[in-house]
Amino acid sequence: MTVTWLNAAHAGDVDTVGGKAASLGELSSHGLPIPHGFCVTAASYRQFITASGIAPELFEAVNIDTEDSRALAEAEQLARELILEAEWPDGMRESILSAFDSLEGDPVVAVRSSATAEDLPDASFAGQQDTFLNVSREELLDRIKKCWASLFTQRAIYYRDEQGFDHERVDIAVVVQRMVDADKSGVMFTSHPSTGVPELTVEAAWGLGEAVVSGTVSPDHYTYDRQAGTVETVTVSTKNKMYVQDTDTGQTLERAVPEEKRDERVLSDEELHALSELGDLVEDHYDKPQDVEWAIHDGDIYLLQSRPITTIDEDHAGGDAQMDEAADGSLVDGLGASPGSATGLVRIVGTLDQLDKVNEGDIVVTEMTTPDMVPAMKRAGGLVTDEGGMTSHAAIISRELGVPAVTGCDDATTVLTDDQRVTIDGDRGVVRDGTAGATSEKTTATETEQASTPTRGGVKPMTATEIKVNVSIPEAAERAAATGADGVGLLRMEHMVLSTGATPEHYVAQHGEDAFVNSLSDAMRTVADEFYPRPVRIRTLDAPTDEFRQLDGGESEPVEHNPMLGYRGIRRSLDEPATFKLQLEAFQSLYEMGYDNLEILFPLINDAEDVYRAKSLLEAVGIDPNKRPWGVVIETPASALESEAICGAGVDFVSFGTNDLTQYTLAVDRNNSNVAARYDELHPSVLQLLTDTIETCQSYGVATSICGQAAARPQMIQELVDAGITSMSVNVDAVHDAQQKAKRVEQQLILDSVRE
Ligand code: PEP
Ligand code: MG
Repeated sequence: MTVTWLNAAHAGDVDTVGGKAASLGELSSHGLPIPHGFCVTAASYRQFITASGIAPELFEAVNIDTEDSRALAEAEQLARELILEAEWPDGMRESILSAFDSLEGDPVVAVRSSATAEDLPDASFAGQQDTFLNVSREELLDRIKKCWASLFTQRAIYYRDEQGFDHERVDIAVVVQRMVDADKSGVMFTSHPSTGVPELTVEAAWGLGEAVVSGTVSPDHYTYDRQAGTVETVTVSTKNKMYVQDTDTGQTLERAVPEEKRDERVLSDEELHALSELGDLVEDHYDKPQDVEWAIHDGDIYLLQSRPITTIDEDHAGGDAQMDEAADGSLVDGLGASPGSATGLVRIVGTLDQLDKVNEGDIVVTEMTTPDMVPAMKRAGGLVTDEGGMTSHAAIISRELGVPAVTGCDDATTVLTDDQRVTIDGDRGVVRDGTAGATSEKTTATETEQASTPTRGGVKPMTATEIKVNVSIPEAAERAAATGADGVGLLRMEHMVLSTGATPEHYVAQHGEDAFVNSLSDAMRTVADEFYPRPVRIRTLDAPTDEFRQLDGGESEPVEHNPMLGYRGIRRSLDEPATFKLQLEAFQSLYEMGYDNLEILFPLINDAEDVYRAKSLLEAVGIDPNKRPWGVVIETPASALESEAICGAGVDFVSFGTNDLTQYTLAVDRNNSNVAARYDELHPSVLQLLTDTIETCQSYGVATSICGQAAARPQMIQELVDAGITSMSVNVDAVHDAQQKAKRVEQQLILDSVRE
C-alpha cells in the first residue's frame, strides 16, 4: 500500500509508517485533533529503491568509515543523487497525487520525514531528517524524494553508525499533512522535562510555530499544575515578530506583530486549561510525558506532533525541583535543561576553532550550540548557554548525551570567564562558584596546568555557516579580526594598488617587478597575520579602467564607454599575463613563507575556459592548484549558468559577487542613480541564479560563499543559509548582525527537524 491515512495508523505501526506518523495516527484515531493527512509508507520507500534498482549501490555507498569525513561527504552525495534521479515505479506517483487530491481544496501541506527508527525512546535522532513546509501539489513528489534522501545526510549516516543501527534496516515513511494557518502556536511539555513533575510547561507566540521553534521571538511562558488544575506562572514577553501564511502562495512570511498585541498575553487561562486537558489525554494515552507541538486556528486547537520526553532522569522523576527555583548565590541562572550536576573549568566557546580547547569534563559556555559542537559537548562535563529553551538544540542534545545543562541564561558568556571553576546544576538551572562544595559523580574535570589564553567577552554566536568579513585595506585587518569573523571572504587587491599611488605598469616601470610583488605581498601579509590560521581570500585585480585613471600612469588606461562591461577582472589579467603573474607571485612568495591560510579568488570569469586559462597561469608561477585553495567570483549570469563546467575545472570554491551579478542580470548599472530603484539584489532572477549555483556546487563538493554587499541583508542570509551556502562575507560593521541572523536561520532549520 503506497499511502495510509493518518487516522488509520496506530502506535504499533512504526515499522510501516515511521515513528512520527504512528504517533500522529495514534492521536488521531483516539479523537485528538491533528491536521488531516496521509503517510507515504516505509514500504513505498523500499519499493522505490528496490524497483528502481538503486538499493545495492545505495547501501554500498554508505558502507564507509564514518570517521573519514571525505568518505562521509561522498556517501551523502552519491546516495542523494541516486534517490533524486531514480525513476518512480509504476503507479506510485499516481497513488500519492490521488491521496493529495482527496484533501479538501488545493491545500499547501507539510511534508515530514518519519523514519522507522527515528523517535525511539533512546535515540531521538534529533534533527536528522528533512521537513518541508508550505508544499504545493507541484512540489510534492520532489519533496518526498528529498525526505527519503535525507535518510542519508552525513549526520544521519554518522549517527546511525554510532548508535549501531543498520542502514539497511532503517526505513523512512513520509507524512503529508495540511498546514494549519495558526493564529497562535507553540510547544508544551506535559511534565517537566528534567524532573518529571506533572506540571505543564507551555511556550506560546502569535502566528505560526516557527517563531517559537526558531527562537526569533521570546515566547510567553506558562506553567500549569495538572493535578490542581491551576495556572501557576504566567510570563508575558514582548513579541515583535510573527510568522503568517501568505493566503495566495502558502509561503511563510515574517511580519511585525501589531503594536497592541506585542505585550498581550497569548494564551488565556481557558486555553491553557484546554491544552492541559489535551496534554493529559496524550500523556495518559502513551503513559509517558510528552513533548507536544500545538497550534490554534479560529479557536480550534490542533496537535501537530507529540513525542515522548525521552530524557527524564529516573532519579529525579517525581522530585520537587522546580526550574525557577534558583538558589541564592548563583553566578548565573537559566533553565534546568538537562539534569545532573557537574563541576569543572569554564571554556567559553565563541567560534568553531575554539572547540579544541574543551577538555574532558570542562564546562562549555556558549551562546547557543550547533550540530558542529556535538563532539565537544560529548567531552564536556556540562553545558551552559545564553540562549535556548527546553526544546533548543542544546537542551535536546545534552539530555540525550546525559550532559547536565543550563540553558537560556542570557549572560553566561559575559559573566563567566575562561578557567573559572563552576558547578552547574542542571535540575535547578543554576551555575554556582565551583569551589563552593560541589558534589557530583559527573565531576570529572581537573584543573589543567597548561596556560590557556582566555577569550573574555565579545563571544560571537556559533554558526555552522561561516561568517567572514570583507577587508578593503590592510589597516582595517585588526578591527576586522576582532569581530570574531571566520576569516576574510574578500580582500580586493586593487586597494593595495591604489595605496601605491601608481598603476601596476607604472609602478613596475619605476621600481621594478620585485618591488611591485613586495608591495602586494606586504599588504597581504598584514591581513594574513592578523587572521592566521583563519583563511584569507584575496581577489586578483578587478579595477574598472576609470578607477585607476587618477593614479600615476592612469593616463595610459584605456578610455572606455562603459568600464563596467570593459577591461577588468580576469579578462584583463588573461590579456596581460605579465602583470597577472606578478600578482600570483605575491601569493607564491607568501606560501613559501608558510602562510598557508591564503586563498586565491579570480574575478569576473564567464566560463570554464576563463578558469582553465587562469589555472594554467597559477601553475606557471609554481602554485599547485591541487594544493592551494582557489576559486572564482560568480558575478555574471554566464558564470552562474556555466557553474557546472566551472566546478568541473577544479575550483575549490565560488563566491557570489552580487554587486555585479545584480547589475548584469537586471541590466541596471550599479552606479547609475537613474536606475537605482531598479537595483534589486533580492530580485527572484538573482536569487534563482544563486540557489541554482549552490545546488550545482554542492553536487561537486565545491564550497559556496557570497562577498557582495547583499550578504548582510537578512533576507539574503535567510535564502542562502536555507539553500546551504558554506560561508558569507560581510563588512566589518555587519558581522555581528549577520552572525545573529545566520544563527537564527540555522536554529530554525535544526529545530524544525527536531520537532517533526
Ligand atoms: C561584487 O561584485 O559583488 C563584488 C564583491 O565585487 P566588487 O564589488 O568589487 O565588484
Ligand atoms: Mg564584482
